Amino acid sequence: TAMATEIDRILSGKKYAPAPKRERYDTLIVGAGFAGAVLAERLANDSGQRVLVVDRRPHIGGNAYDEHDAAGVLIHRYGPHIFHTNSADVFDYLSRFTEWRSYEHRVLASVDDKLVPMPINRTTLNALYGLSLENDAEAAAFLASRAEPVEDIRTSEDVVVAAVGRDLYETFFRGYTRKQWGL
Ligand SMILES: Cc1cc2nc3c(=O)[nH]c(=O)nc-3n(C[C@H](O)[C@H](O)[C@H](O)COP(=O)(O)OP(=O)(O)OC[C@H]3O[C@@H](n4cnc5c(N)ncnc54)[C@H](O)[C@@H]3O)c2cc1C
Repeated sequence: TAMATEIDRILSGKKYAPAPKRERYDTLIVGAGFAGAVLAERLANDSGQRVLVVDRRPHIGGNAYDEHDAAGVLIHRYGPHIFHTNSADVFDYLSRFTEWRSYEHRVLASVDDKLVPMPINRTTLNALYGLSLENDAEAAAFLASRAEPVEDIRTSEDVVVAAVGRDLYETFFRGYTRKQWGL
């Protein structure tokens, strides 16, 4: 309920106000993004704990935070976010706090004169590499065959190269990340 109240407050445009002081808390959570907010809600509502959530930003939501700009348009302050899941549990949990706006993600990336689905799926791999992968298992096996072991994972580049190999990293992930995040 604390999170729902906070969301109501943000949506109604009221000014930020710190939580009322209590004598003691069971848990301190630093960061009110998805991770901190969900942990706080679970600990408070499921375990009856008193939880204090702090964040150096004056809002909840972390990088996924959105707000209305001066023209009343809903914008993502830290970059665009969409949500998708195939988990009924996750969908049911979040539905306690939000309504949904349906959205179809049909993005094509222009690579080597071809327009291919982004994020990468089986269709992308078949078009790019002239393959005829027929199911998820075949796609996963292909990606595994391209993956390059990285001993010391330090950056998101390392994560992607270790999962799908350098070629796909350079073809897709590097440019996407640079365009979206400027990094
Ligand atoms: C441009 C962009 C686009 C993205 N697009 C998508 C998308 O479409 N779909 C999707 O599912 N995910 C997307 N993501 C990823 C998603 O934003 C993250 O997975 C998610 O926000 C992570 O949540 P988190 O709670 O772990 O961290 P964060 O959201 O980063 O929250 C951490 C919070 O902790 C606070 N904090 C950190 N250190 C301190 C400190 N020392 N003291 C006080 N406060 C602190 C920060 O201010 C922040 O509010 C995107 C990310 C970016 C940047």
